[in-house]
Amino acid sequence: MSIQNQSVIVVKLGGTEGVDFSAICSDAVDIIKGGQKLVLVHGGSAEANALGEALGSPPKFIISPSGFSSRYTDRKTLEIFCMAVNGKINTLLTAQLQRMGVNAFGMSGVDGQLLWASRKEAIQSIENGKRKIIRDDFSGKIERVNTDLLLTLLENNYVPVVAPIALSPEGDPLNVDADRAAAMIAAALQADMLILLTAVPGLMSKYPDETSVIAYIAQAKLQQAMEAAQGRMKKKVLGAEEALQGGVKRVVIGDGRVEKPISKALAGKGTVIE
Ligand code: ADP
Repeated sequence: MSIQNQSVIVVKLGGTEGVDFSAICSDAVDIIKGGQKLVLVHGGSAEANALGEALGSPPKFIISPSGFSSRYTDRKTLEIFCMAVNGKINTLLTAQLQRMGVNAFGMSGVDGQLLWASRKEAIQSIENGKRKIIRDDFSGKIERVNTDLLLTLLENNYVPVVAPIALSPEGDPLNVDADRAAAMIAAALQADMLILLTAVPGLMSKYPDETSVIAYIAQAKLQQAMEAAQGRMKKKVLGAEEALQGGVKRVVIGDGRVEKPISKALAGKGTVIE
C-alpha cells in the first residue's frame, strides 16, 4: 500500500541480549529524516523473562510437536509480559526516538485494534516425551491488521512502534510472536522490505558457525532454510515466508549488534530472502 506513493519498510528489533537499541534508533532516525517511512516492531522476551524471575514467576516454554518453542502464557505470565514488553520496552524505545527528534507513537496491538488474533485454545506440548494439552494459555495467532490505523499514523508523520500484544475476540490481550507480527504488518502495508534484526549476522547453514551465514535464499528454497534454523530462529524463517506470501518484496535477517544495522540490511547485508 502506498502513502502518497511512498514505500514502507518494517523493522523488527530482536529482544535478545546484544541487540543495540541505541544504534538501531539512531540509524532509524537518519533513515526517517531522509524521507523513508518506517514501522518498528519489537520483541521483549529477555525483559519478560527477567521480570518474571524478579516477580517469582520464571518463564516456562512449550515445545510443540513440530519442534517450535513458545512461551507458556498463563494469566500471570500474560500480565508480566504486558508490563515488560508494553510497559517498559515500548515506552523506553518510543522515548528514545522522541529524544532523537522523531515523533514515535508507541502502541501495542490492543490499541485501536491494531492487531486482532485468535486465541490458541488448546495447545499441544511435548513434555518428557509425552503429549500434553494446555488450555489456559493467552497466546494468539494474528488474523487481521488495522492497516488504516497505521496509514493514518504514517501519513501524519508519526512513526509507529509496536509491542507484540494482540486483541482476542473476547477482548483479552494475547501474547503474539513479534517476528510474525512484524511479518503480518509488513504484508498488510505491502511493505517493500521486512528487516528482522537479531543478535546473529544472519541465518547460518551450520549454526553457530558465523562463517556459514547464507547470503541469499529464494522463496522457493525456504523449506531447506527452515531445516538449518533451530529454536526461535524457526519463527523468523516462518515470518519471512508469511511476509513474502503476503506480498512483501524482500525480507532481510540482519545483525542488530552493529553500527547502522538498518542501513546495512537495506544494502543487502545479512540473509536476503525474496
Ligand atoms: P530475537 O530475540 O532477536 O528475536 P531469537 O533469540 O528469538 O532472536 O532468535 C534468534 C536466535 O536463533 C539467534 O540469536 C541464534 O542463537 C538462534 N539460531 C538458531 N538457529 C540458527 C541459525 N541456523 N542461524 C542463525 N541463528 C540461529
